[in-house]
Amino acid sequence: MANDRPQTSLERFLPHREGADALSDRVRLLLVRTLYTQPTSLAIGAANGAVSSFAAAYLSGESSLYVLAAVLTAIAAARVVMAFYLPARSGAGDARTLETAYEIGAFAYSAVLGVFAAATLLLELPYGIDLLMAANALGYGVGICARNAGRPFIALGQLLLVVMPMILVCLWLGGFAMYLLAANMLLLLPAMSSITLNVFRVLRDSIAEAERSQELAVRMQVLARTDVVTGLANRAGLNHALVETLVELPVDGALGLFWIDLDRFKEVNDLLGHQVGDRVLAEIGRRLRASLPAGDTVARFGGDEFVICTRVADKRACEKIAALIQGEITRVIRLDGERLEMQASIGIACLPEDGKDADALMKAADLALYHAKANGKNQASFFDGSMTRDLMRRREIEAELRLALQRDELSIFFQPIVDLDTGNIRTFEALVRWFHPEKGELKPDEFIPVAEESGVIVALGNWITAQAARAAAQWPADVTLAVNLSPLQIKAPGAALGILNALKAAGLDPRRLELEVTESLFLEDSPVVRGFVEQLSAAGVQFALDDFGTGYSSLAYIHNWPFSKIKVDRSFVSGPHVGKKSDAIIRAVSQMAATLDMTIVAEGLETIEQVQAVRDAGCTLGQGFYFSRAVPDYLAAMLLAQERNTDVHSLTG
Ligand code: C2E
Ligand code: CA
Ligand code: CA
Repeated sequence: MANDRPQTSLERFLPHREGADALSDRVRLLLVRTLYTQPTSLAIGAANGAVSSFAAAYLSGESSLYVLAAVLTAIAAARVVMAFYLPARSGAGDARTLETAYEIGAFAYSAVLGVFAAATLLLELPYGIDLLMAANALGYGVGICARNAGRPFIALGQLLLVVMPMILVCLWLGGFAMYLLAANMLLLLPAMSSITLNVFRVLRDSIAEAERSQELAVRMQVLARTDVVTGLANRAGLNHALVETLVELPVDGALGLFWIDLDRFKEVNDLLGHQVGDRVLAEIGRRLRASLPAGDTVARFGGDEFVICTRVADKRACEKIAALIQGEITRVIRLDGERLEMQASIGIACLPEDGKDADALMKAADLALYHAKANGKNQASFFDGSMTRDLMRRREIEAELRLALQRDELSIFFQPIVDLDTGNIRTFEALVRWFHPEKGELKPDEFIPVAEESGVIVALGNWITAQAARAAAQWPADVTLAVNLSPLQIKAPGAALGILNALKAAGLDPRRLELEVTESLFLEDSPVVRGFVEQLSAAGVQFALDDFGTGYSSLAYIHNWPFSKIKVDRSFVSGPHVGKKSDAIIRAVSQMAATLDMTIVAEGLETIEQVQAVRDAGCTLGQGFYFSRAVPDYLAAMLLAQERNTDVHSLTG
């Protein structure tokens, strides 16, 4: 650091400011502050100087000494006042000002004290006045070197100014004792220089060391709060930022908390690899950060989730921010020539309406996010009180599901899958039903996801397969049974063997079982899944790809896995997207299936028009309310009996 102050003649005369210019501003400030610590010691010294000098003036009766005593006391008083008020007022950048202010006072005081002591020697006063003042001045000069070692230039300057007038007077007076005294005082200079500089070095190094370790600690803390992939705050950083934001928020301030979850990010990771996944996260993180003011918190909450906390005026402002976030995320991402289109679900919670602290806000935003996802993703949901009730219902369902099996509240219903040419039932799909004593009939869409999350699905799935197989064993041999399998069930140890054992116990030929799976199962090419499919295929079990068209809809799965059936999702048959496009898709899939020797099932057929449309498009099988809803086992048996004009009892008996 360059010293931009011109050197004074005093500075040229005094030892060079030891290493001062190599100091960082922070260390310099800390050292300068040591000058101002213990202002009381300064006050005691000042009082002592005032009393001694006035005593000397009084005892001697010299008017010139009265003048010097007055000047000395005035300087001392000004310095004491300064020592109490200046450091408190000045900020961290004021090291130079503080130092100069101290310097002026210190040099002035020392010079006057030195001149005073020299004058008493020169005037050869009685009653030991010269001894009083010389001892005073020397004591001050030596003591100050220790006290002000933090700024050696000042310390040694003060010593020099105190002793120099006395040395000159001793030399002027002459005589052995006086020469010896002058020599003694002269020797004080190198001796005190060496002591002061040593103390200074120790002080400077320990302050610098403390500074360095504090800096390091700060850097480590920053690292611990930063996410490596995106450079945004991580979970710890978010917690810290939230607490800070809440502390700084005015009493009537409002906040918006946005919890963002990327839709289908797992597929990007699984299909394109984790490296690409990380780059997508980094790009989205960068966009979010850039689109929001610097004061807002943008954090990655682990996985594919981000959290944003921002000051807002009201709900309308939140809506705008949510739209902005969606816009940034859905904008095409280009990576090495690949075009990626991402979408996100967002849960929004507002302070103070939805929660008063960080914890409550996060919980509310999490619930809102859960809703956004459950409602079909790619949307933003504001928290509202009913979401807490929904969550409680889920918790209840989770708790009661384990008991439902034992209490016999579950049963299996069967929905026919019909040949669209002949109208004959070819398969029954087993669909689970839960008749709750208080809540009434619960939909599988409500409790199957809960069963999956809680792991109950494994026990539940085994029970369903066993029950359904027992019913199916009673049907004519050409009617097959379709059972839905959740990916979690398949990944459970011994899954394939469990199914084969259930078939054996029920006496159902494995070739009459068809397992309906969704493509999410094949996203990762897991050896467990492959083993499961191979083991069951070898035993003759068939596989159907369920809900085709709702997921990633990659045709690759169809080639790589032994499906005998593709079930086109009911959104292609009824619902808002039906039209030429869905028709064309069914046609294309049907053609491909025909060449691969697979059958196509159209789901959700409710009207004769829909039946005709899918048949024209090339589907060979159909399922839906137009034919029949899912019915209990005895009604399924009756449907078969009616169709075959046979006596029901001969089938079920
Ligand atoms: P999914 O496998 O796609 O089953 C077809 C769903 O569509 C059934 O709903 C069925 O009742 C309904 N459906 C059939 N025809 C029509 C129609 O014409 N119109 C309309 N609007 N809907 C129709 P359900 O029984 O509520 O089952 C919903 C989902 O729950 C199933 O979808 C399946 O994913 C899951 N699920 C049902 N039972 C089981 C099971 O035993 N195990 C597992 N793992 N999942 C099951
Ligand atoms: Ca199904
Ligand atoms: Ca389906």
